[in-house]
Amino acid sequence: MAACRPPAPGSEEAWLKAAQTFIQETLCPAGQQPNVRLTQLVLDCVKTTWLSQGRSQGSTLPLSYSFVSVQNLRTHQRLPCCSHLSWSSSAYQHWAQGAEPNGSPLHRERLLLLGTLTDLSEDLEPECRNGSLYVRDNTGILDCELIDLDLSWLGHLFLFPSWSYLPPAKWSSSGKGHLELWDAPVPVFPLTITPGPLTPIPVLYPEMASCLLRHRSKFKVVKPNLAGKLVQLSALVRSKKKAYFILSLGETSAAINQTVSRVSIIVQIPAQLVWYQVLRPGEAYVLTGLRASKIRGHCYYIWTTSPSSHLMLLKPENIQTLELEGPFPEADLNPCPMRSKSPDKKEHKGLVRESKILHYVGTVTGVLNEAAGLYELDRQLVLCLAYQQFHGLRRVMRPGVHLELQDVHLLQSVGGGTTRPVLAPCLRGAVLLRGFSRQKPETQSSLQVHGASLYTQLVWENHLGLPLYLWTTKTLEELACKLCPHMLRHHQFLQRSSPGNPSLGLQLLEPSLQLPPSGSHIRNAHSEILEEPHDCPLQEYAQLQTPCSFPTLANLREEAERRAWASFDPKALVPLRDAAYLPSCQLNRCLAWSWLSLRPCTFDPAQVLLGVLVASSRKGCLHLRDRSGSLPCLLLAKHSQPVTDPQLIGCLVRAERFQLIIERDVRSNFPSWKELDMAGFIQNQQARVYVQLFLDDALILTVPRPTVHSPTPSAPPHKEPLCPEGSHIRQSRLFLLSHKETLMKRNFCVPQETSSEVPKPTLSFHVSGSWLGGTQRNEGNRWGPPDALRDENKEQKILLIFLGSSVRWFEFLHPGQAYRLVAPSASTPAFEAEGSSCMSQRPLELAGCVSCLTVQDEWTLELESSQNMLLPESSLTHLFSDKFINTLVSFSAEILSRTPCESPLAPVWMMSGNKEAIRRCVKLTVALQTADCEFPPRLDIYIEDPHLPPPLGLLPGAQVHFSQLEKRVSRSNNVYCCVRSSTYIQVLSFPSEATISAPLPHIYLAELLRGGPAPFQAIASCHVVFIISLQLLWVCAHCTSVCLQGRCSGQDVACPTQASVSQASIRLLVEDGTAEAIVTCRNHHVAEALGLGPSEWTSLLESVREPGRVALQFTGPGAQLESSASIHEPLTLFLRTLCTSPSVLRSIVLSFELEKKPSNITPLESSRLQRFQCGELPLLTRVNPRLQLVCLSIQEPEHPSFLGAFTSS
Ligand SMILES: [Zn+2]
Ligand SMILES: [Zn+2]
Repeated sequence: MAACRPPAPGSEEAWLKAAQTFIQETLCPAGQQPNVRLTQLVLDCVKTTWLSQGRSQGSTLPLSYSFVSVQNLRTHQRLPCCSHLSWSSSAYQHWAQGAEPNGSPLHRERLLLLGTLTDLSEDLEPECRNGSLYVRDNTGILDCELIDLDLSWLGHLFLFPSWSYLPPAKWSSSGKGHLELWDAPVPVFPLTITPGPLTPIPVLYPEMASCLLRHRSKFKVVKPNLAGKLVQLSALVRSKKKAYFILSLGETSAAINQTVSRVSIIVQIPAQLVWYQVLRPGEAYVLTGLRASKIRGHCYYIWTTSPSSHLMLLKPENIQTLELEGPFPEADLNPCPMRSKSPDKKEHKGLVRESKILHYVGTVTGVLNEAAGLYELDRQLVLCLAYQQFHGLRRVMRPGVHLELQDVHLLQSVGGGTTRPVLAPCLRGAVLLRGFSRQKPETQSSLQVHGASLYTQLVWENHLGLPLYLWTTKTLEELACKLCPHMLRHHQFLQRSSPGNPSLGLQLLEPSLQLPPSGSHIRNAHSEILEEPHDCPLQEYAQLQTPCSFPTLANLREEAERRAWASFDPKALVPLRDAAYLPSCQLNRCLAWSWLSLRPCTFDPAQVLLGVLVASSRKGCLHLRDRSGSLPCLLLAKHSQPVTDPQLIGCLVRAERFQLIIERDVRSNFPSWKELDMAGFIQNQQARVYVQLFLDDALILTVPRPTVHSPTPSAPPHKEPLCPEGSHIRQSRLFLLSHKETLMKRNFCVPQETSSEVPKPTLSFHVSGSWLGGTQRNEGNRWGPPDALRDENKEQKILLIFLGSSVRWFEFLHPGQAYRLVAPSASTPAFEAEGSSCMSQRPLELAGCVSCLTVQDEWTLELESSQNMLLPESSLTHLFSDKFINTLVSFSAEILSRTPCESPLAPVWMMSGNKEAIRRCVKLTVALQTADCEFPPRLDIYIEDPHLPPPLGLLPGAQVHFSQLEKRVSRSNNVYCCVRSSTYIQVLSFPSEATISAPLPHIYLAELLRGGPAPFQAIASCHVVFIISLQLLWVCAHCTSVCLQGRCSGQDVACPTQASVSQASIRLLVEDGTAEAIVTCRNHHVAEALGLGPSEWTSLLESVREPGRVALQFTGPGAQLESSASIHEPLTLFLRTLCTSPSVLRSIVLSFELEKKPSNITPLESSRLQRFQCGELPLLTRVNPRLQLVCLSIQEPEHPSFLGAFTSS
């Protein structure tokens, strides 16, 4: 509007002309002739106000100011501003300083605002007035807030000398700004002063009014007037049907200065709702023309205003007390029984505490969460407005606002992470504005402005108590920080739930919240305000135990690593009994790899895993990602079901049950067990952190694509890949996968323009399978019929090569499933086999396949149909026969142990010499899972470079399927397997939560000779017949050569002189009446076999240190011994006596394992004929071969006759 531009300084004439035009256009009643009187009055009013600041700057007119219409403010004023006509600059400066130091003051504009103050909105009928105030001129209407309203101002034209304008906030749905009127408005026309009543008004005081209400049938008082002090003011309740508030007038007893009786009055006439802006608790008022009315759904009556009622300040000279004829019957003083509180609340009285109700006056110092109605008061309290309808108040709320809280609940120690006391008004209390803020509103983050309707829903529909509400708002905020805005827009995350379209935020929280069903405890505003004792959601509360937390993935990783290293204890990894006998290299190998599994319950509060599933196109593995980072994950759909559907990519995964795995890799050089607690010997440590979970245990949510424009965020996920506009024709071809090979770096000759570069190995994998029909093209949303094949009868075998970014499909491809390859364009036939250039270079991979095809980066993969996997299993005969060597075998197995070791393929010269050159290797000992075998045979699987580090999830206790492992036989005839590039490894199940080791079976030794399935480990009660041999020695801890006279006998000059460890072994012959066995015991089991206590054993070993080695050989029971040392040496004598004494040759309970591994394929020794001489008769009898056992432990029988009882039974 051109008239509004400030004219050149000094040109009073121009300013006046502009003013006249403005007044005519904006303030004169529409359609009327130019009103000279109005113009003059407005200008007088402006002049008077302008001059009142005492500094006229040489002019009687505010030339630097320009008039502004409501419409101009609404359309042109985009920034918050203020205008103070009556203020000098220094007054403004002083005022602005009040906004500092934490905020910046509102910017000062020089604008003149005039308008009519009204409670009638432009688009509402008079009966829809809801108590709000507006400023109106010919151009429009603006909401306004005013602190001290005088009812006589309504409907009059004012100059507003001092005001601020706040443009609409981001969250505002109305899209309208509002005015904050600072000073009392200056009337353009003099206001008529309403004279007092001519005769004093007859009034009732609260006590009498209450009586009258109870005995309304006896005393007919037509439209009585009530007088009293305002003792309580409810919130202004706005329901869909109507708006109302309830006030209570009380009588004060001068003697005790306490309210002795009170009476409540409901105000619900639309024209009277504006009284809410006038009423001040503590002031005395008269309300005229009341009547008694019944509240719907309640048994009692309440005073209510009539359309003719008036509100006026109580002036003693204007009233007189209305006398009623008594007496009042006492019998029914309590006509309405008090509603007792529900009994279930009383039951856990111990946990539940009552909030205090108080009055509070304070200043808002911070906005905690505007959408959720959470503010900071006086830097130490939390103010929660969510339990009131605070829509009107919210636009005013910002740091600096001065509030008076009437009957507000104070809740302390609410728990759930909130430490500060909380003030929260319910509908019974009032939040009264006592002062506007001088600060500009802070720029609110997206997080702050969205979600208001979701938060409202939590309180008014889900009926969350305050502690849980605070926790929920905080957690939603955390979740939004984790996910928004990169993965989701804030409005998508915080949108309100509606039937069929639940809020994403609530879906993530719901399992932890256990929301009561919607509408189970409907709040009744009337009861909440009127009933005694007071009952509202804030009245009682219990301290909240934080239900759970949603750590960021970066925090989860940090915490996992912290715990992994805090719990890393070398002594715990090597049992101390064994550690004492281990040379340095074995000791350090024991520490080299270890793992830890953390479960959510080991955190307090329990942790919930949350992230978006992504498939890495650089590494081929799956990750969970949030804004803080990502965490590799190993997913199974459920037990033994891998994840097959690539559509899971991009979904939100929420899991309460998961395993957080930390694999620790440690490089150390501990010289011996004695130094295990010295951290200085750890050279390098690394942790690999990942999560394992079953998708069955998780909540999978499809994430709407982050779009700015789309207002309906939960559209179904687009299946289509991104393709250029207009070309929606795609082609696809089905294939059935039969085998997948390992993901590794392979040498490819990738034809590239930069051919000068040396080709590098590329991460890739192959799958083999067969086409199911020809290429299909899309017809609308469906796939058309497949192209005809040249040769229908020929099986369409295909080898698909995934390299580059298509390795992202690795985790989704599994044997037995049918997939559809989709290419985004149909212009060229995509799924034709490649030319000979590819074939000629890769003859090995192509063996058995008709053609090969490289999957392009832009192709996508869809799961066509999912079947239960049929995994290939090699037979036990195939596995454990000496016929099929160097073949490929497949089986499922449970991993028993995982140890770093030396490669079984390393040449002997390498093992003894150059230790650095020994190839790194991981050995998995597994128990085969075969249906027909009671005692699962064991096997070792070796994983070497380039297959290191092993894939995720190869942990002790895990069940894994291995396909196409290479079977080999060691020098000692043991079968073992090696991972090759053709190998497919699929984890079927994670280590179980509780590892219960089954007790070993108790058997007779003869059971091991039958040739049938036999346990690998067992217990037998037997008798030690005699000792076959005994060896005690000291070896160098560094090079394991024997230490003679305390010195290493090896050649390595680097060996430290002192570092030596003792080693011991003994061989016993035992029998249990069914068979004989030779048992080998090592190290501390030798002490058990000899029946020596710890101190006796230590001193025996110490006595061997001097000679370095003592070995005894017995040839039979009572036979002579052969010894490495002189027979007559005291030590030898002692050992000889010991080994033949009844304290050693005794009954024992022996735990053992077979010396010959189940994987050993040396043919079994058969029984042989042996000749005995029995007196004169020679006897020829068949003797079983002696069993060879390794001792696991030796225990004394529980009582000496145990063996006899056992055999006789
Ligand atoms: Zn309450
Ligand atoms: Zn040595």
